[in-house]
Amino acid sequence: MKRLVWLGIILLVALNGQSVERRARIVSYRLDMQLDSTGRWLDVQALLTLAKNDTLSDLRFHFADIIPIRSVTCNGDSIVYRRSQDGLQFRLPSCRKFQLRIHYTLETDSFKSDRVIALVRARKWVPYLFDNVASSEINLTVPVRYYAYSSGKQRDYQFDGVIRQYHFNAKVNAGMPLFIAPVDYYIGLSRRCKGIQINYFFHTTDTAVANTVARESVQAFRFGNRFIGRYRPSTFTYIEFPGFDFCQSMPGFVLMGSKYIANVKRPDKRYWVGHETLHQWVGNGYFMALYSHSPYNRFAEESLTEYLRMVCLQKSYGDDTLRAMLRENCHIYTANIKGTAEDLPIALNRPNWVTYTIGPVIWHLVRMEMGNRKWQRFLRKLYARYYGKVIDYAIFRRQLTTFASEETVLRMERRLNVKGIPPEFTE
Ligand SMILES: [Zn+2]
Repeated sequence: MKRLVWLGIILLVALNGQSVERRARIVSYRLDMQLDSTGRWLDVQALLTLAKNDTLSDLRFHFADIIPIRSVTCNGDSIVYRRSQDGLQFRLPSCRKFQLRIHYTLETDSFKSDRVIALVRARKWVPYLFDNVASSEINLTVPVRYYAYSSGKQRDYQFDGVIRQYHFNAKVNAGMPLFIAPVDYYIGLSRRCKGIQINYFFHTTDTAVANTVARESVQAFRFGNRFIGRYRPSTFTYIEFPGFDFCQSMPGFVLMGSKYIANVKRPDKRYWVGHETLHQWVGNGYFMALYSHSPYNRFAEESLTEYLRMVCLQKSYGDDTLRAMLRENCHIYTANIKGTAEDLPIALNRPNWVTYTIGPVIWHLVRMEMGNRKWQRFLRKLYARYYGKVIDYAIFRRQLTTFASEETVLRMERRLNVKGIPPEFTE
C-alpha cells in the first residue's frame, strides 16, 4: 500500500510537470553558433520564441547541467534561473508571447562520438520541452577543416578559404540534429527521388553497404511518398553516427549506428532501413505524444511503422512475401518470446519485442477488416491533417474510426491487452 501511495505521488508530480510543459510551447529556435579555431568550444546564442496559453509562471526546460550558461534574458530583461538534474527552470513574465535569449558555450569533447561533434536533442545540447515541435534556423560558422550536417533547407553556404558558414532552416524540427565532422570523415552519396535530394553520409568505406542502404531507403521512400503522402521536408539526410547503438529517425534526418550499417548486407538485418525511412511519415510526419500515458502509443507508432515496411515489400514482391513475413514473426514469437519475460501484452506500452513482431500481425487483421482502400485513406488523412503536429492516441483513434468500424477498433484494442498471436490470424 505504501508503495502505491508513493507511486501515486510520483505519478502526480510527473503529470503535473508534463501538463506544465503542454501549456507552454517553443514556437521557434534561432541559433547563432560558432566553432572556435581549436575546435574545442562551440559558442551558442539561442533565441527561443515561446507561446503559453494561460497564467503559467514557472517553466522547466531540459538542458544539460554540464553546459556553462553566460546569460539568460527574457524580452530583454535578465532573469533568475535555477538548474538541477539537467533542467533549466525559471519564472516567466505575465505575457503570452516572449523571447528568451540564452548565451552558452559547449565544450565539444563532451559531445564527441569518435571525431564527430554529434549534437542531437537527447544530448540536451539545446533547451527543449517534451512533445514540442518547433521551426528552427541554425547559423553556424566552422573553421576550414570541418563540415556541418543538419536537417532542413541549407541555403547560402559560404566558404572564404578560412571559415565555412552554414544556414539551415527547418519548418518542422523535433530532433535538433547538428553534426560537425572533420572534412575527411564522411563519404557522401546522393540520390534524387520525386524531386527530393536524399543525401547519405557514411564513415564506412564499404561501398557495397552504402549502396544497399541507398537502394533500400529509396524503395521505402518511394512507397511512403506514393502510399501515405508527398514527403514534406525539403531534404532528407542519412548520417552514420559512430558509437550509436541504435538507428533513429528525426524529421528529414536519420541517424545510423555503425553496427547496423555493417550488418545491412544480410537480408535479415536490413529491416531498419525501411523501418526508419517510413518513420519519416509515422512519428516524424505527425508525432505521437510520448507522455500522454496511453497504453496504445507504441502500437500506433512502432507496430504501424513496422507493418508499413512489410506492406512496402508486399507492393514490390507480392502477397506471398507479406504472408511469409507475418508467418516468420509468429515463429519468432513462438520460438523466442512465448513464456519469457518479454511475453507481454502490447498495451503495457513498453519498448519490447512483441510490439515489432505481434504488433504488425494485429495491424494486418485491422487492415483486412477495414479493406485496403479504407486503411490507406486513414493513413493518408492522418498524415495530411496532422503533419508537423503532435497527436495523442485519442486523436489517432478518432481518425481510425472515421474509416474503421467501432467494433474493429475495439477488437484491435482487446487484442492489444492479451498476450500472444491473435487466434483470428491464420497462417
Ligand atoms: Zn521504430
